[in-house]
Order: sequence, then structure tokens, then C-alpha cells
Amino acid sequence: MSSDCGHLDTIRDVTPSALGCEECLKSGQEWFHLRVCRTCGHVGCCDQSPGQHATKHFHATRHPIIEGYDPPEGWGWCYVDEVLFDLSDRKTPQRGPIPRYY
Ligand SMILES: [Zn+2]
Ligand SMILES: [Zn+2]
Ligand SMILES: [Zn+2]
Repeated sequence: MSSDCGHLDTIRDVTPSALGCEECLKSGQEWFHLRVCRTCGHVGCCDQSPGQHATKHFHATRHPIIEGYDPPEGWGWCYVDEVLFDLSDRKTPQRGPIPRYY
């Protein structure tokens, strides 16, 4: 565990808000990888995706921690401290099959 992040105690057990990126599903956009917000469960797409909705969610809400989520990959990322850390013992279970576009 990295100790460079002061937000690890904000990590919650969340219910993913959608099966794929919430915003992309609404607008019919495609995504590359998914990230789930460990503060509220918002599912957004990664920075390699056209929408970059996970990062936009962070800027809109300041929720610091996301988890790799397609499938749950066992790592977390703090936007504030820009550190990667291990979440393999507290992954967010998928709610169902992720609708994939790539
Ligand atoms: Zn942090
Ligand atoms: Zn998206
Ligand atoms: Zn959030």
C-alpha cells in the first residue's frame, strides 16, 4: 500500500451507477476502459476514451479515488496525489456484463 495518498480512508464500498460509462451510454459514445468512482459509484470512461468521463467526474465532484473497472482490475488511482495503489482485496463487483464497444 502506498502511503503517499491521504484519501485512502475515503474509499467506500459502492454500487456501480451503470453497466458502462454513464455519460457515454446516454449519448451513444464509445469508450475504451471504464473507471468506477469509489466515493459515489459513478462509472466513467478513461482518458484514452473520447469522453474522458471519469476525469470529468473528478473535476466536477472532486471525488479523488477511482478503480479500474472493466473488469475490476484490482488497482486504484488517486487524482489528487496521482498515485496508483492496490485495491485487489476490496474490488467493486460488477453488476452485470459490461456492454463493450472495443
Ligand atoms: Zn490521495
Ligand atoms: Zn464516457
Ligand atoms: Zn464520484
